[in-house]
Amino acid sequence: MSVSVVVPLYNEEENINILHERLKDVLDNIGTEYEIIYVDDGSNDKTLSLLEDIQKTDKDVIVLSLRRNFGQTAAFAAGFDFARGDIVITMDGDLQNDPKDIPRLLEAIKDYDLVSGWRKKRKDKFLTRRLPSMIANWIISRVTGVRLHDYGCSLKAYRRDVVKNLRLYGEMHRFIPAVASWYGVRVAEIETRHHPRLRGKSKYGISRTIKVLLDLITVKFLQSFSTKPMQFFGPVGMIFGITGVGISLYLSVEKLFRGVNIGGRPLLLLGALLIIVGVQFVGMGLLGEMLVRVYHESQKKPIYAIKKILGPGK
Ligand code: UDP
Ligand code: MG
Repeated sequence: MSVSVVVPLYNEEENINILHERLKDVLDNIGTEYEIIYVDDGSNDKTLSLLEDIQKTDKDVIVLSLRRNFGQTAAFAAGFDFARGDIVITMDGDLQNDPKDIPRLLEAIKDYDLVSGWRKKRKDKFLTRRLPSMIANWIISRVTGVRLHDYGCSLKAYRRDVVKNLRLYGEMHRFIPAVASWYGVRVAEIETRHHPRLRGKSKYGISRTIKVLLDLITVKFLQSFSTKPMQFFGPVGMIFGITGVGISLYLSVEKLFRGVNIGGRPLLLLGALLIIVGVQFVGMGLLGEMLVRVYHESQKKPIYAIKKILGPGK
């Protein structure tokens, strides 16, 4: 068995050296081969040059330097593509996750394909971080049917095949358990430590929760009606439309053959409304079908670009 640890870093100059030290302490004692993949996500501080120094003296380190800041999910994706270990571990680079939890993740993944950390005692601000996360976690677990307490925890362990061939974008890394479990991947959650951020700044605010919730649309899309929007909108639209046409025909017959004055009747309004809504629903179904195709097409686009790779043999 071998292990790859993937760490995304964006302006973490104050954390990287301590992180590396703590990671080595743990990894040198797990009794298996390992590699650490540091992904510099376009930092504009000293992060990259510090990583280069680390890499020069440590053959277990690979540094991927992205061309610009692509975001944490893209940085993870880059790491996944380069990871060679049987087990891939992800974690934040700001010392909020604790490398000491890695052995427990490795133990837990023996019976599962994916083990997710749960920051039960999360050390972040309540109003801007913990509360929005609580709400988001509640919604995500209801919508996806995968019951995790803490989707946002970066500290996770995956069997290699779970993260290969993933197509990530937006804030999608946190949804890997939800998407994967749909494919039959066995998902577990264990409690992990969490520390306050002591150095450097958090890169996110409340707007991230909104982005996360928007990505949920995609997840649901992938899970269920990924190829069948027309089956969802089509029949409803048809029923509405046909009912509307029926009502309008009935009213026309009353007017033309019986000479009834149909002006101002609620039914008239309903008939017109149903036709319009029906047509729109069918239109939405078609639009959905197009989106599905565009979605599958767009998967060819990479979500990160690499400037430099530093590693053994590079
Ligand atoms: N990060 C990144 N790219 C970004 C933003 C963040 O690689 O655009 C990294 C960051 O350096 C850290 C991890 O992702 O290692 C988590 O970021 P942060 O601590 O800011 O998030 P929070 O813990 O506040 O959710
Ligand atoms: Mg953090």
